[in-house]
Amino acid sequence: MKRTAFKKPSYEEYRAKQALKASKPRKTLKKAKTSPKMHSTDLWLKKIPLGSHGTGIYQKKLWKTVSDYVRISDWYDFNGKCISCGKYLAHWKLGHAAHYRPFSRCTGYDKFNKINIMLSCAYCNSVGGRINNDTNSVGHNFAMNIVIRYGLERLEFLEQFTNKPPQKLETPVVIGLIKEHIKLMEKLPEKPDYWYTVKDLC
Ligand SMILES: [Zn+2]
Repeated sequence: MKRTAFKKPSYEEYRAKQALKASKPRKTLKKAKTSPKMHSTDLWLKKIPLGSHGTGIYQKKLWKTVSDYVRISDWYDFNGKCISCGKYLAHWKLGHAAHYRPFSRCTGYDKFNKINIMLSCAYCNSVGGRINNDTNSVGHNFAMNIVIRYGLERLEFLEQFTNKPPQKLETPVVIGLIKEHIKLMEKLPEKPDYWYTVKDLC
């Protein structure tokens, strides 16, 4: 008698319940497929503009952070002066981040090592740096001012930058270096605009 008292759900009700049950776990499954960690990693990286040096977006973003870090810190530390000719730059954004040992001849992570990179005027880092004769002394002055600023040991260390075997850059290491430079910028008296949007995300 008990069994007859129990109202059997109609087929439509049964189908509706099944559909509801089926829809719930499917939603959870979809959410689980996207890794929230990867997503947030992408987000902060997207906010960093691409720089002019490097292969692929991660290296170009690393270059952007290295270039900005060097230009801002040198501009404040050395009164806005070009490392080679001493010309005053009215703003760090007007300067170039110049490699002492050329980017093209450095290997691996040395390409982005800020100890080889200094604030320069555009002329010394482009036209002036390519002219090599008695009336042009850009390269000589660059070397001489590295010695004055940092000592002979720094210059000798940098000379070895271009005598190294090729080295492949790994993306996770490159991303780690980007984070490192974002953290270093904390101490700068001025920051690039993107710094404020990425500092808490990376
Ligand atoms: Zn110059």
